[in-house]
Amino acid sequence: MIEEWKLARLYKSQYRVVGNHSAVKICHWTKEAIRGRAPCYKQTFYGIKTLQCLEMTPALTCNQRCLHCWRDITIFSEPEWKGPVDEPKEIIKGCIEERKKLLIGFKGNKKVNSEVLERAMQPVHAAISLTGEPCLYPRIADLIEEFFSFGFESVYLVTNGTVPEALESLRKLPTNLYISLTASNPEMYKKLCNPLIKDGWLRLQKSLEIMSKMKTNTVIRITMINGLNTENPNEFIPHIEKARAKYVECKAYMHVGYSKDRLTEQHMPSMEKIREFAKVIEENSNYKIKDERTDSRIVLLERY
Ligand code: SF4
Repeated sequence: MIEEWKLARLYKSQYRVVGNHSAVKICHWTKEAIRGRAPCYKQTFYGIKTLQCLEMTPALTCNQRCLHCWRDITIFSEPEWKGPVDEPKEIIKGCIEERKKLLIGFKGNKKVNSEVLERAMQPVHAAISLTGEPCLYPRIADLIEEFFSFGFESVYLVTNGTVPEALESLRKLPTNLYISLTASNPEMYKKLCNPLIKDGWLRLQKSLEIMSKMKTNTVIRITMINGLNTENPNEFIPHIEKARAKYVECKAYMHVGYSKDRLTEQHMPSMEKIREFAKVIEENSNYKIKDERTDSRIVLLERY
């Protein structure tokens, strides 16, 4: 079971814990959509429904401690899985219930359209990206399948790539599979991702290879941290090409949450810097710039 102090900190940050090791939270962009404002960039780029997004994790644990992580990484850092393994069906049921309770608070808000809120209560998109490393959860393949059995239209999985065997175990593939690629060489990886495992870089390389054979929307996300991984975009290209990812997202590190304990506002690149970085990739690879969102400081490239 999770210790009381960890539960209290998670609860205070608006997480709701489900079972022994999962959690759900309402994403900032879902709240914005409920208020009738702009959806998240994934709706713009890929057409998912921000309003009906369920953001969760089956793993309140991570085997990395990335400098740029906005989550409270002091709470859950383990090199591998420990403890009980909950049933995927129970995790999903619990997340849907807790999410509904979190949304109840909008009921009294006169600015919120009740029909919109009613629709928001019915999630159809699952974002397995809330926190931690989801592929550490031993039944990640079952969980993805179960979301589709529950009638979800789309399921996104975001992984740091350090559990290639989990990617190999996937049967029903996620709609979008993301691998976070923050570093372009092993030294930079150690410095920026602070892995709790010895062979993290090699495992990431293995995951990129596995990704190259997957028949789904594959995405490499590069979180750009000014001055730490932004000076040599060319060095990222061999890894991107190895993965043959369908999309590459060049996204700014955002100076929010607990990352403020480790980085400064100067580490947040400007939209201009991101465009320049993406341009270099476009000029030296099989990718073309496809779209951008300035409010999210992101440029999207697509493989041709
Ligand atoms: S897809 Fe991601 S950014 Fe968009 S609403 Fe869901 S959790 Fe938020």
